Amino acid sequence: MKRPRNIVILTGAGISAESGIDTFRGGGGLWEQHRVEDVATPEAFARDPDLVLRFYDMRREAIQTKQPNPAHIALARLDREWPKSEGGEVLIVTQNVDDLHERGGALNVLHMHGEHLNAWCTACDMRLRWTDPLIHRPSCPLCGEPALRPDIVWFGEIPYRMDEIHEALSAADLFVSIGTSGAVYPAAGLVRTARDLGMQTLELNLERSQGSAWFHETRLGPASAIVPTWVEELLR
Ligand code: NAD
Repeated sequence: MKRPRNIVILTGAGISAESGIDTFRGGGGLWEQHRVEDVATPEAFARDPDLVLRFYDMRREAIQTKQPNPAHIALARLDREWPKSEGGEVLIVTQNVDDLHERGGALNVLHMHGEHLNAWCTACDMRLRWTDPLIHRPSCPLCGEPALRPDIVWFGEIPYRMDEIHEALSAADLFVSIGTSGAVYPAAGLVRTARDLGMQTLELNLERSQGSAWFHETRLGPASAIVPTWVEELLR
C-alpha cells in the first residue's frame, strides 16, 4: 500500500465493544433488549417519549462509567502525531455517540450520528452539553422551554456534517473503516465514494462487514489488538 498523506477513518460500535458498550447487532447487542423501532426513530419519540427518554438516560449514564480502550488511544495518537510527522491530516468520522475517542485524546472527531452527552432543544434549536437525565423534562437553560431531546440522529433523520465528510474524503488518499457492520447508510456507502475517488481502502473489523468486497485490504481481529498494530506500522 502506498504511503498515505490525508487519512479519513470511519469508526462504528465495534471500536467501543471492548470498553463494555454494546454493539447494535452482536450477540447480546443493544437491540435484543430494545427493538430499534421502539427507541431510535422520531415516530417512537412522538408515540412514547418516556420510553425513549428513559432508554437514552440509561445509555447516557452508562457511557460515563466506560473507559477508552487501546484502539481509541491508538487512533488518538495517530490523530496527534500524523500531522507532525507526515504533514497530513487525520479525520475520525464516528457513528458512535459515546465520547471515548475524545476521552482517549483524539482532537479531530466528527460525530455524524450525534452525541449521548449533548441535548438538542427543539424550541430554540440550540445544542448543549448534557450529562443528566432528560426524563423529567428539564427546561432548556437558553430559552426556558421544556423541549430538550437527545442529540442523536435517529433512523429516518439525516446524519450531521455530510458536506464536511465528503470534503475530507475528496482530499484523502486512505479510507479506513473500523468496527462497523456496513449496514447503516449513508456511513456504509462512504467506502464506495472512497473507491470512486481512487483512494486506498482498509477495513479493520472482528469479522467481514457487509461491504467488505469494496476494501483493498481487510484485517480481522479485536479492535484493541489490530488498531494499535496498524497505527504502529503507519507511524514507524
Ligand atoms: P454494528 O453493531 O452494526 O456493527 C458493529 C461491528 O463491529 C460488527 O461488524 C462487529 O463484527 C464489529 N465488532 C464487534 N466487536 C468488535 C471488536 N471487539 N473489535 C472490532 N470490531 C468489532 O455497529 P455500527 O456499524 O456502528 O452500526 C451503526 C450504528 O450503531 C450507528 O448508528 C451508531 O450510532 C450505533 N451505535 C453506537 C454505539 C456507540 O456509540 N458506542 C453503540 C451501539 C450502536
